[in-house]
Amino acid sequence: MFDINKILRPNIKKLVPYSSARDEFKGEASVYLDANENAFGSPLDTAYNRYPDPLQYKVKKRLSEIKGVPPRNIFLGNGSDEAIDVLFRSFCNPRVDNVILVPPTYGMYEVSANINDVETRKVLLTEDYQLNLEGIAEAIDEHTKMIFICSPNNPTGNSINREDVETLLANFSGLVVVDEAYINFSRQKTFIQELTEYANLVVLQTLSKAWGLAGLRVGMAFASEEIIEVMNKVKPPYNINEASQQLALEALSNIDIVNNWIKETLNQRDKLVLQLKSFDFVLDIYPSDANFILIKTTGAREIYNYLVQQGIIIRDRSKVELCEGCLRITIGTPAENETLINALQNYK
Ligand SMILES: *Cc1c(COP(=O)(O)O)cnc(C)c1O
Repeated sequence: MFDINKILRPNIKKLVPYSSARDEFKGEASVYLDANENAFGSPLDTAYNRYPDPLQYKVKKRLSEIKGVPPRNIFLGNGSDEAIDVLFRSFCNPRVDNVILVPPTYGMYEVSANINDVETRKVLLTEDYQLNLEGIAEAIDEHTKMIFICSPNNPTGNSINREDVETLLANFSGLVVVDEAYINFSRQKTFIQELTEYANLVVLQTLSKAWGLAGLRVGMAFASEEIIEVMNKVKPPYNINEASQQLALEALSNIDIVNNWIKETLNQRDKLVLQLKSFDFVLDIYPSDANFILIKTTGAREIYNYLVQQGIIIRDRSKVELCEGCLRITIGTPAENETLINALQNYK
């Protein structure tokens, strides 16, 4: 049922991509006089005078070993935010097409849609923060190109029911984008293994959260080879800089330390939930599959302002629909979480 040619923008279908010096000659040579680089070097100890690998082969090869997908099914973006933008630019005709968003969810989908002048159709999650499949079905028309599902969801923290996502994958003829930025903290399994099953699936992950590399800006998209090819054609040629490629590669060989942080984060999350339960201004604590928790309070803004005065910054989500009175708290180090709890003990 899914046919990439039916959803591609016509200008992208016929796009002749930029051909860089690194595309024209890919082998090893002793003298490179093809890219107008500074042949003498750079003022830094590490040589950054050469353009980086446009398709980031070494990083993808390592990721491929970790994730169990071939490199040809991996796209790397300057953060997953770039992957989101590239999807819009590849598949959505401005002022013609639309996408489905299911708020409360991650804000970048809407911003990226607005930048690209693409209509967003919002179908609120249910009261228990799950998909309203009937509402989504009603919102879809022949110009609907993508549906964005964030699971575990930001800011609510819960995972979206797998069968519901599979229902969309099986019945929607556009792309289903499953954003798994927080998957490393989740009890649910990734959708990456469903790539062979669904041609319209795009899975987003990132090095920004569990991997602790938000500053490097490296995000991943996993999809069919034909989707990845389009995304590579549309992205800026050198979108991941050489320093980020080298450092990401190095970080990816340190899985053990990351897994230990994940375990510690989950322990700290459980502990924080127990402690927060004892405060009478905390009305509800939503189940979390992520490295943050959403809590409903009697007065979100007041608590937020009080904590700012104490030098503690959390996220006030109380203006977000279905999140009235809610605060989002990232799980910190044991010492940071203790500081937070101590501060809250002195509130009011
Ligand atoms: C933090 C986050 C991202 C990460 O974006 P990067 O650009 O990779 O840093 C993506 N999606 C969601 C839902 C997030 O919360």
